[in-house]
Amino acid sequence: MSADKTTILIVEDEPAIVELVSFTLRAAGWDTYSVSNTADAWAYISRRMPNLVLLDWMLPDQSGIRLLSKIRSDRQFTALPIIMLTAKSMEEDKIAGLDHGADDYVTKPFSPRELTARIKTVLRRKAPEHGQSILSAGPIVLDPVSCSVMLNDKRVDIGHAEYKLLKFFLAHPDRVFSRSQLLDKVWGDHVVIEERTVDVHVLRLRKVLKESEKLIKTVRSVGYMLSER
Ligand code: CA
Repeated sequence: MSADKTTILIVEDEPAIVELVSFTLRAAGWDTYSVSNTADAWAYISRRMPNLVLLDWMLPDQSGIRLLSKIRSDRQFTALPIIMLTAKSMEEDKIAGLDHGADDYVTKPFSPRELTARIKTVLRRKAPEHGQSILSAGPIVLDPVSCSVMLNDKRVDIGHAEYKLLKFFLAHPDRVFSRSQLLDKVWGDHVVIEERTVDVHVLRLRKVLKESEKLIKTVRSVGYMLSER
């Protein structure tokens, strides 16, 4: 199967910090992509939504806080998790960052362990399906770090879309999602596919889950949910 790793965009112009942060985040199991100015960051975000952005305050073309405002004023990016990296430790700057919609801030110099912990917390709070903890229901166990799915302790072959769908369901048990919500949440706003494509992938997912397919419930005229009940 193809990997479905959480991608973190690093917006930072100091090469040494980019190197340290990239190394740290990759070691924690995330994919990273780095850019050194706000224009490239905006181009990346518009093209391919990352799961989280680490945004430096002082950048060569304009301040990170300007980009933060731009991201937050665009409706499709309101839920995008953003952590500010800042050399400034002044209280008013932190407040300004949070006022502009940052989810958290990390003051330089920071320890790799602290940064990783902050990212995990924000991901868990904003998007549980992007957390790194093991997700499970009944005999199904999904490990986001190794991107593997076990069924009764045996690893199963699963397609990329089915993996993402399963991960989303496991992260939000007992909640019904419409086809269009699943398209939005699992495939992202940027992808234009028909709602019945969701049915095709649910069908494939059920096949992969064999007798545990009953955990994925069809809620008539509404959508789907995962429930052990
Ligand atoms: Ca900088």
